[in-house]
Amino acid sequence: MADAPHAVARRALMAEIAAEVRATAGWTGRQTLKPAVTAALMRVPRHAFVPGKFRTTAYENHPLPIGHGQTISQPYIVAIMTELLDLAPTRRVLEIGTGSGYQAAVLAELAGEVYTIESIPALADMARRHLVALGYANIHVLVGDGSFGWAARAPYDRIIVTAAAPHIPTALIDQLVLEGRMVLPLGPEGGEQYLTLVTKSVRGRVAEQRLLPVAFVPLLGSVRH
Ligand code: SAH
Repeated sequence: MADAPHAVARRALMAEIAAEVRATAGWTGRQTLKPAVTAALMRVPRHAFVPGKFRTTAYENHPLPIGHGQTISQPYIVAIMTELLDLAPTRRVLEIGTGSGYQAAVLAELAGEVYTIESIPALADMARRHLVALGYANIHVLVGDGSFGWAARAPYDRIIVTAAAPHIPTALIDQLVLEGRMVLPLGPEGGEQYLTLVTKSVRGRVAEQRLLPVAFVPLLGSVRH
């Protein structure tokens, strides 16, 4: 199996993630990951999404450069955001910030359909290639400004934003189902950012829960104007 050289590193990473989830439970309210989330993280080959020179460090618990000034998120962050989304095989998910495609692959292991938007065409192309090579048929990649969401495929049961926004883009709230949830880093560029869980009630009331201090690359585009 092509994965064999990475299996030991991947298991060690899962132990590190589990320890960090416990250590941050005071913020997130989550002591452990659901077994399905752990299994999804074990299945997706992170080394297949990073540039060749970083393959050997792909299972270390930190972000890595993917070109164009962007990064693949730290594995713990991917894990906790996925956990907070509370996915199920019937759910339709929108991701803003495809980047390498790694988070999209993790989502696709747990959800029904994954729609993901990337503003940098070269990254979207690369992500598409990686995802096709791994056989993911339920991930749809769009090039564009994710601040506007993807109206043609809305609404979504879950929305995840993997770049920091100064405020929640209103289009994303509009495209979220009643009783849906969204996970995103909120905060000004260069200022304090918090991973935030946004829920929409059965009556459409939106509530925000600030969970964890984080450091993400900024969400670019119209959200800044
Ligand atoms: N989820 C990615 C990590 C992405 S880093 C992964 O698993 O690898 C954040 C990404 O958001 C970058 O690729 C950046 O180009 C993209 N991005 C920034 N602003 C955006 C916007 N307005 N719309 C869509 N993508 C955006």
